[in-house]
Amino acid sequence: MLAGLLVRGLIILIFISGSVVVSYYITRLTAFLIPIARISDIFLWSGTVVLSAILLMGTAYYYVYHGFGSQADIIRRNPAAGKRVVLTFDDGPSDLYTPQILKILAEKKVKATFFLVGKHVERYPDLTRQIADEGHEVGNHTYGHITVPNSAPSQLAGEIVRTNLLILQHAGVYPQFLRPPRGLYDMRMRRIAMLLGQVLVLWSLSSQDWHPRATTEGVIRRVLDRASSGDILLFHDSGSLYSSEGSSRRATVEALGPIIDGLREKGYEIVALEEFIAFSEVG
Ligand SMILES: [Zn+2]
Repeated sequence: MLAGLLVRGLIILIFISGSVVVSYYITRLTAFLIPIARISDIFLWSGTVVLSAILLMGTAYYYVYHGFGSQADIIRRNPAAGKRVVLTFDDGPSDLYTPQILKILAEKKVKATFFLVGKHVERYPDLTRQIADEGHEVGNHTYGHITVPNSAPSQLAGEIVRTNLLILQHAGVYPQFLRPPRGLYDMRMRRIAMLLGQVLVLWSLSSQDWHPRATTEGVIRRVLDRASSGDILLFHDSGSLYSSEGSSRRATVEALGPIIDGLREKGYEIVALEEFIAFSEVG
């Protein structure tokens, strides 16, 4: 642990000094190429500082968006989980569809993860409690189902924190997982998640049940044809194309039982997210 930190610190140090040295020589070269009679120290050092700042900022930007190696803070799937998949339901709770989904999950003895919208938690506190009481995981899907990259910084933090508190209050658990609406996240959201001790969870296979013309058969076929080991499956128990609720989720409800049976027939085990992400290549 300590050795790892030291190595990482050393790499950062080497990187920063490297950037400064490179910037210094680029500035000298620039001064040589443009006709300046005498290179002033101010020119050299301010050039070096500005250039290394740009270099470091650029690298920091690249690092955040692409990462070196695995992006441990964003989970889309887990190949190390073997023949296991996770079921996730977004946008709820809904008084119409969530109880039906909970009933099927209970009958089939499946634990799922529900990414709840804060204002729906406020509207349906009892359903929120029921989801957690029945052993399912509860995640944060922002308060108002916002588009994260368009949100103001204060709004984004407020949306996440407010929903965490609502979930804590009504479900009695602190949400470990955070899912950005429509899968659109940015650097700020990643930092907030880290700060709040939460993991960003996306998905690797969408059931496309949000589509206005989704049919039960279509949802079943799509999931069963495409599911593979280590997938995180996406469903919706509320929501609509343009607002946070209102669409029919009949197809989702009707498809759920056959999907669970079909996945099991194909040899997949359906597990909760916490158990699923604990599998790693190393362990
Ligand atoms: Zn959503």
